[in-house]
Amino acid sequence: MDKYRMLDNKLIWHPDILNKWRNKEIFFPLHLDIGATSDCNFRCIHCFYNYLSHKHRNLPRELLINLMKDISSVGVRSIFFASQGEPLKNPATPEAISVASKSGIDVALSSNGSLFYHEISKEILPFLKWVRISVLAASKNLYCRLHGTTEDTWKQTFKNLEDMVKVKRDLKLKTTLGVQTCLLPENCDDIEALAIHVKNIGFDYITFRPISNHPKNTYHVKEDLLVKFKENLQKAEQIIDNKFNVFIRWNLYQEEKTYSQCLGLPFIAFVNADGGVYTCGCHLDESEYCYGNLYEQSFSEIWLSKKRMELTKKASETPDFRQCDIICRHHAINKFLWEYSKEPEHVNFI
Ligand code: SF4
Ligand code: SF4
Repeated sequence: MDKYRMLDNKLIWHPDILNKWRNKEIFFPLHLDIGATSDCNFRCIHCFYNYLSHKHRNLPRELLINLMKDISSVGVRSIFFASQGEPLKNPATPEAISVASKSGIDVALSSNGSLFYHEISKEILPFLKWVRISVLAASKNLYCRLHGTTEDTWKQTFKNLEDMVKVKRDLKLKTTLGVQTCLLPENCDDIEALAIHVKNIGFDYITFRPISNHPKNTYHVKEDLLVKFKENLQKAEQIIDNKFNVFIRWNLYQEEKTYSQCLGLPFIAFVNADGGVYTCGCHLDESEYCYGNLYEQSFSEIWLSKKRMELTKKASETPDFRQCDIICRHHAINKFLWEYSKEPEHVNFI
């Protein structure tokens, strides 16, 4: 059972916003992905953002805190610290997490785990709904090779994961702790061992998925590893019990863009480490997909601007899917909204 509904969208639980969309009213996005930095201490072989070379850019503390206050005042319901870099490389991220959470926003974080020291866990876990740690392998040599890091970092990262579980238990937190593993030809033999290791640490789940292939990257995985390594993945599923889950995104490679417009853009936006507010994660650092910049305007000013509305309309109605990842962050809501927009006749005969 996917109690988080990780593999689908949750728009039907936001009927007020769906109604505004149907009535063509202006509304603020339900969710933002926040790139507090584009810097990263890892160089993962498969990173979706390798083509942007992880520039040393942090959103300044004041800008980040003002952003949290602004978006809570206009009703943004959730934010996810992730994107081009390791969020904890920005020293202001922990404070931003607590400010957002105290203002009523649901906050989540993706991290490579290497900087999730004990003190950081104590400081931020109470304010996070969930955390997802990206881990490509359990074994030392493979981990270091695939993440582009050192043996000391491998050791520290797994120690941090154990600490997170301890902090969660000590503080009686509900924060969901998960690991995400992207399937690569290089790590498929490590799948079962990794799942067992993550379970033994005390995390809540591990999820396996194919990588997102950005068209501008040089490293791509085109074959369906879910099929090729089905047996290994099924062995990993054997360890599911009432305390630990294994999610496998079995159908992801069979998914197609069944829509011809990108209708989800008004619901999810991306804040980038350059201060830009972008349509989506596939087009960061591309000025033609940038609504405006937080160094010049607040998020709410950007969102209500004519430029933002025109760009949303243009990018929604005439998307160039050749420039897009097959399965992007908006995919599930795009599918849903496309179907929802085609109201059948005799709709009241449910
Ligand atoms: S840790 Fe994340 S952001 Fe950093 S290189 Fe790896 S995948 Fe990219
Ligand atoms: S379909 Fe393309 S334009 Fe639309 S959100 Fe996905 S990547 Fe962006």
